[in-house]
Amino acid sequence: MVKEIGVGTALGIIVGLLWLGYNAYPLLIIFGLFFFLYKFLDLKGGLKQFSPARVDRGRASKNVSFDDVGGQKSAKRELLESLDFIRDPNKISMLGIRPIKGILLAGPPGTGKTLLAKAAAFYTDSEYIAAAGSEFVEMYAGVGAQRVRQLFGQARSMARKKGRKSSIIFIDEIDILGVKRGSFNSSHKEMEQTLNQLLVEMDGMDMRDEVRILVIGATNRADLLDEALLRPGRFDRIVQVDLPEVQGRLQILELHTRNKPLSDDVDLREISAETFGFSGAHLESLTNEAAISALRENCSCLEKRHFYEAIDKVILGEKIDRSPGKEEYKRIAVHETGHALVSECIRPNSVSTITIIPRGQAMGYIRHCPENDIYIHTREYLEGQIAMLLGGAITEEEILGSRSTGAANDFQQAVEVAKKIISSGMSSLGVVSIKDLPVSLLHKSIKEIINEQEEKVRLLVINYRDIIETVAAFLLEKERISGSFLRELLYKEQKTGSVNELSR
Ligand code: ATP
Repeated sequence: MVKEIGVGTALGIIVGLLWLGYNAYPLLIIFGLFFFLYKFLDLKGGLKQFSPARVDRGRASKNVSFDDVGGQKSAKRELLESLDFIRDPNKISMLGIRPIKGILLAGPPGTGKTLLAKAAAFYTDSEYIAAAGSEFVEMYAGVGAQRVRQLFGQARSMARKKGRKSSIIFIDEIDILGVKRGSFNSSHKEMEQTLNQLLVEMDGMDMRDEVRILVIGATNRADLLDEALLRPGRFDRIVQVDLPEVQGRLQILELHTRNKPLSDDVDLREISAETFGFSGAHLESLTNEAAISALRENCSCLEKRHFYEAIDKVILGEKIDRSPGKEEYKRIAVHETGHALVSECIRPNSVSTITIIPRGQAMGYIRHCPENDIYIHTREYLEGQIAMLLGGAITEEEILGSRSTGAANDFQQAVEVAKKIISSGMSSLGVVSIKDLPVSLLHKSIKEIINEQEEKVRLLVINYRDIIETVAAFLLEKERISGSFLRELLYKEQKTGSVNELSR
């Protein structure tokens, strides 16, 4: 706005001078030269170098409390402990406790690190000021360091202006700014200077300051950080912010459906169990996508099917308009049925849905029923995983006479699982280090594990050939079938030894 007024005024003066009969051409030329120089620097991004880092203050005013952060029980508890020195500095000094200057929130993307920092600011009635590590990375020496000084200066002045006694500076992606000095990732001296400035500012922080400052950094890669940053007296608390477990997912779903009308058939417990591995951001997106589906269908509330559709969408992406030919479609149906059958035989009740509606990169897929969250795996579990992955290709081979490229990804995953068996010391090689094994021996061992499962899967497919053909034909017709349909057929087969009756 100021820029526009300036340009307008200058042009107005020149036109006025010309109109009054003065020779304003030299002025016009100088003005033009300045304009081109400005545009040239702007295009090269040069002017940006001299501006302060973009900081986020506005969102701090939108109060986020710890109640708005679902799950993350232990992260919240650890964070709350560290915040006491800001809330109650007298108690801290009475006990002679050294105050904490920095807290590092480490964890996967979308787990609520920014939310926790905002909640910390609200809880301690602090001014909240946020910047991202990438905003301090510049070509010109000294600019990043200057921005760090400005950030701390702003944190103090803003708190003073609003009559607050403390400020929280949140630096997202701190690994960009605080990468190990001299490492491959720290590209030039400018970055080291910036990091040094941050260390200097943190060392200069004192509890007796008029405005107490706490720096909260967030990273997905704590291993990249410079040790000087992590030493006691700087970021001496590392709080792990992990993917939420089932109860945490339920809380997050409840938070994000507070403002959405839900139909009676929606059971958030069931959805939280179905979403193992989802981050808070995934869950927020899931509820949003479910609401968008409801809107598209003109429904007055969100129904169960909207949530299940949204789970698929969040995992695999939007439905795509790829339409395979008849033969290819049949192959996809046979392949997915193979995966599902093996899955059901190995882990009964494990298949929730089988579909051949293409989404994202997948031409078809199976959604499994929720298991309890599993964090450690036995050899039997991993072998079952390999068998399920091989199920698609072997079924194609037995029913259609050949395999296809559709199984390439399954094989890659099967090899990774086999490597996991070897590296965990559960293979016939005993306890070994994969990276020290000769390639030929590793290859032989992987093959051994996979071949064993391949034989088991082949037997299953031969045994249940009729069921596979019936389910695949049904899948071709309906595009999506439930796991219970497959279970019903399997159950009858196991009881009567015949599925022909059912397939009619
Ligand atoms: P990144 O590492 O990518 O910066 P982050 O860990 O900082 O991610 P946030 O920005 O805090 O993640 O979360 C993104 C969004 O996901 C939030 O605005 C919120 O809607 C949702 N979300 C994430 N975690 C939670 C949670 N624990 N409770 C409630 N909502 C959450």
